[in-house]
Amino acid sequence: MSLFVRNEKQRQWIEKIGQLADEFQQTAAEDDEQGRFPAEKIQKLRDSGYTAITVPKSHGGAGISVYDMLLFQERLAQGDAPAALSIGWHLSVMGELGEGNSWDEDVFAFIAKEVQNGAVINRAATEAKTGSPTRGGRPGTAAVKKDGKWVVNGRKTFTTMSQALDYFLVTAWIEEKQTTGVVLVHKNDPGVTIEETWDMMAMRATGSHDLVLNEVTLDDNKLVELLQGPRGAKPNGWLLHIPAVYLGVAQAARDYAVRFASEYSPNSLKGPIKDVPAVQQRTGEMELELLNAKHFLFHAAELYDDPERRPYLKNELGAAKHIVTNAALSVVDKAMRIVGAKSLERTNPLQRYYRDVRAGLHNPPMDDAVIQKLAAEAFH
Ligand SMILES: Cc1cc2nc3c(=O)[nH]c(=O)nc-3n(C[C@H](O)[C@H](O)[C@H](O)COP(=O)(O)OP(=O)(O)OC[C@H]3O[C@@H](n4cnc5c(N)ncnc54)[C@H](O)[C@@H]3O)c2cc1C
Repeated sequence: MSLFVRNEKQRQWIEKIGQLADEFQQTAAEDDEQGRFPAEKIQKLRDSGYTAITVPKSHGGAGISVYDMLLFQERLAQGDAPAALSIGWHLSVMGELGEGNSWDEDVFAFIAKEVQNGAVINRAATEAKTGSPTRGGRPGTAAVKKDGKWVVNGRKTFTTMSQALDYFLVTAWIEEKQTTGVVLVHKNDPGVTIEETWDMMAMRATGSHDLVLNEVTLDDNKLVELLQGPRGAKPNGWLLHIPAVYLGVAQAARDYAVRFASEYSPNSLKGPIKDVPAVQQRTGEMELELLNAKHFLFHAAELYDDPERRPYLKNELGAAKHIVTNAALSVVDKAMRIVGAKSLERTNPLQRYYRDVRAGLHNPPMDDAVIQKLAAEAFH
């Protein structure tokens, strides 16, 4: 056990996930370089049972808490952040839905069973014109009722894990209801294609390609959600899977820099650079930032997991995302300063962490939205 790992179930999963993280790490640089989505890693996560752990107990799953998920996700990200972010979306979707949803019960029971059997799911909510769905833009993708079925047309961007997904939760404009809703689409539904558009400098191995829907025809009960406001209006602790990933990246950068500083011994010094005051200073600062971020994140998760305290949460979840993501950026920066120019070598993992950690700024909620909500609360 440790300060954060508090029970046997957590310890067993950390061990299992740790082994997979160490294995995935060996090919993370290659996947990044080629911008290749590692479907085989998702398969290994399926085989380990990991993809089913947020299925609620009411539907036969392990029903783990947000706190548990963060522990495992942070560890996985230390080895392979793109794989962790990819599966994190899936885990968080099932966790969120397991807390209660407005779905047709038969459809939800079916999906829960599919996930128990290895299916993976993610939300496809972003479009080129709306940008982040948290801003409340109206989707260009539309679902129109024809002969009792929903006919869906449109294009979603940033669909993480697109090549491995079995199900997509597609945000669409529902003409009949004059509101935004979510339709459940299967990868083999006629009219569904993936266009391989993802070519970013960060999180290159997440396969976050475009999902194209051309006359996709769905049964009536596949309209599973109607949104009252922009997504993100209701507190959703499961989204903390995002900062957990960037915390993992920061931890990996810190570990690399500490190891490097303990071993690198240029001939201008009597020993390794770890004894140089500037390196000590930066290392201490990295530790402080990591402690701050980790404690805030896990405490926010604990508050969310406690049904009696959850109603009192105001902006803590958004604040956790902001604090952790920015701390992670800063820690990676400091780790690179400690290592020096070698951190820029294309074979050095730090340059990958440097690129990957920046993606956190563009995952929800974005910094400006968090700050704006805090200010609004102050003047409330
Ligand atoms: C690695 C990665 C994986 C992702 N995976 C998924 C996924 O699986 N599914 C999914 O649906 N999405 C996913 N996304 C998309 C993500 O959630 C965002 O929608 C996307 O990054 C666009 O965000 P943005 O802030 O750049 O876009 P925009 O909203 O276009 O913002 C661009 C700029 O304009 C400003 N801006 C735009 N609108 C407003 C406004 N109304 N008010 C104030 N400022 C505004 C923003 O502050 C920002 O500076 C992923 C993103 C990344 C980076």
